[in-house]
Amino acid sequence: MYIQKRVLTLSLFFVFALGLLPSQAAQPSVEALYQDARRHFYALFSSSSMMKERKKWKRVIKQFERITKTRPKSSRADDSLYTTGLLYERLYAKFGIKSDKKNALKSFQGVINRYPKSNLLDEAQKHIGDIRFKERDIKKAVRAFKKASKNRKSVSAKVDKRPQKLARLTSVKRYSRDGYTRLVLHLSNRTAYRAHRLKNPARVFIDFLDTGFSPSVPQLIRYKNGMAKSLRVAKNNASVTRVVVDFAEQKAFHKVTALYNPYRVVIDIGRNNIGKIAKHSANLKVKKHASLNSSPPPIKRKSGIRTIVIDPGHGGKDPGAIGPGRVKEKDITLAIAKKLKKELKKRLNARVILTRSSDTFLELDERTVIANSFNADLFISIHVNASRNRRAHGIETYFLSPARSKDELETAARENMISANNRSEVENDLTYILSDLENTSKVNDSVQLASAVQRSTINGMRKSHSGIKDKGVKQAMFYVLWRATMPSILVETGFITNRTEEKRLQRSSYIKQMAKSIATGIVKYSRTYMVAQNR
Ligand SMILES: [Zn+2]
Repeated sequence: MYIQKRVLTLSLFFVFALGLLPSQAAQPSVEALYQDARRHFYALFSSSSMMKERKKWKRVIKQFERITKTRPKSSRADDSLYTTGLLYERLYAKFGIKSDKKNALKSFQGVINRYPKSNLLDEAQKHIGDIRFKERDIKKAVRAFKKASKNRKSVSAKVDKRPQKLARLTSVKRYSRDGYTRLVLHLSNRTAYRAHRLKNPARVFIDFLDTGFSPSVPQLIRYKNGMAKSLRVAKNNASVTRVVVDFAEQKAFHKVTALYNPYRVVIDIGRNNIGKIAKHSANLKVKKHASLNSSPPPIKRKSGIRTIVIDPGHGGKDPGAIGPGRVKEKDITLAIAKKLKKELKKRLNARVILTRSSDTFLELDERTVIANSFNADLFISIHVNASRNRRAHGIETYFLSPARSKDELETAARENMISANNRSEVENDLTYILSDLENTSKVNDSVQLASAVQRSTINGMRKSHSGIKDKGVKQAMFYVLWRATMPSILVETGFITNRTEEKRLQRSSYIKQMAKSIATGIVKYSRTYMVAQNR
């Protein structure tokens, strides 16, 4: 009791010290405080070792709490309180300490009580629902979700008079290749769900809380081929819709992921372990040999890279960016990809697959299914950049990672990544950062691949053209890369919005040179890859 009182006095002292003593001019702005807290938030979630330390979490929480406490009427106060709740919710999931759950609920409830006009109201309510759902307090969870939808109604009433319904399963899509099937459940709203796998026969069921389904969704779908045998949809009770997927193979691996914009739950079923980097048996043999014998190991293949998937951006009804001379990104990306395929086949003796070889539309969910099903070693996405600034030009290569700068965020948004909605700014990125953590080694490989390709492309293009700008290697969280489980890069081959580069990109000699230069980088990467494998 005594200790608590002292802590309170101390913290009060700090509030006064911070709030009153410095002159107004010396005070950091709310925005500066918020951005600083965000930076620490990202640092925490980008490091699995930091996430193991409770005190690191508490430090970030303190930063957000400070904003709500000292600037309760500022524009960032509700967001900070909401993020505090989010951090406590994650902290509880990690360490299972009850007081963290209590604090999470308190923070979300605080958003609702203290900031009734906040656009985070229904999200806060949903998080309360999520927490209650996880503790199996279905009654309280349903109440929270109902409130959430009521809040949404009042918030959106100004723009949309139609009554909002609770979440609904609206459609089921399936993408399937040999040994790999992806089922995508599209939902009208974000909703809480739990997934569980059962044996004999192998199947996974997913319960969606407070969710119904459209009459157009069949209650039983049988699949003739692929890794899913059938899918069943049923109302489990008044508020829960259950989806059951029966596996075609008893030992299949599976993964359930929620994705946003539009909200959907993705079930991946694979013969090979999903998310694991493919092992190269040929190279493993070489490695063993090398350790026994000091002479250079015999290399049968030209390279350890056996399968490469090239992904020409956009296509069909999605033209991508369009230049001032009406040149479409989708046509350029396809032309480069086709040439690149030819080059790689010739120089690497590898199997090269295009995600599309004609002007067809591919769902983003489908592009990486192709890469995953072929167990590809590399995933190369080809795009053409665009900017409101007509003078912007140059070549840049991205590797998968959370975006860091505003420019990168804009690029990612254009390439179909970012969801804005009503969610907190930091929460929007959280999912991507967390999924990224699972594949740190893949990121390192991607960085090397991106550097090799960027260097070779710049050098190659400068041989025959002037004014080639090196925009460098950058990180991005492109959705199209994120789902892939192999080293992945995205090459922005120039700016279609720049007249000079738009003209150049139409020339077949330029496209050929571009493909050759990109291929050189990939070949170089594959050589260092061999060295690393032989060590
Ligand atoms: Zn693009």
